[in-house]
Amino acid sequence: MSTDPISAPDVAPADCLFCRIVAGEIPASVVERGERVLAFRDIDPKAPTHVLVVPLEHHRDVTAIAAADPAALAELVALGSRIAAAEAGGPYRLVFNTGAEVGQSVFHVHGHVLAGRSFTWPPG
Ligand code: AMP
Repeated sequence: MSTDPISAPDVAPADCLFCRIVAGEIPASVVERGERVLAFRDIDPKAPTHVLVVPLEHHRDVTAIAAADPAALAELVALGSRIAAAEAGGPYRLVFNTGAEVGQSVFHVHGHVLAGRSFTWPPG
């Protein structure tokens, strides 16, 4: 049981959607696989480029991966940036929903790489 104030269920890797995509048990539209991360297209895209970049190892959110494996987080950001450059010429929004209250629905950290259109601020 987590003592973290951010609401997030503890999900066993066997029950984790993104662990199962990483393992190839559930199909995904893979963009690129790196040493520590996998990039695949969001099933419900919100922009012309909407790619999820996830670590191969299970971490529940960006706070957890920053503490446990900063090199994997750096690789995640670098790959997202390269994909945005390749697909949309550079500018991108990188979103880590962290906690159910702010929209996190899959508790395996993922950076949403959104690009290819204009965005408003603040987000809804
Ligand atoms: P979040 O709400 O920030 O946790 O984001 C979860 C994202 O995962 C959503 O944008 C979903 O559309 C996306 N998603 C859910 N299932 C799949 C799947 N099987 N393949 C690709 N993306 C998915």
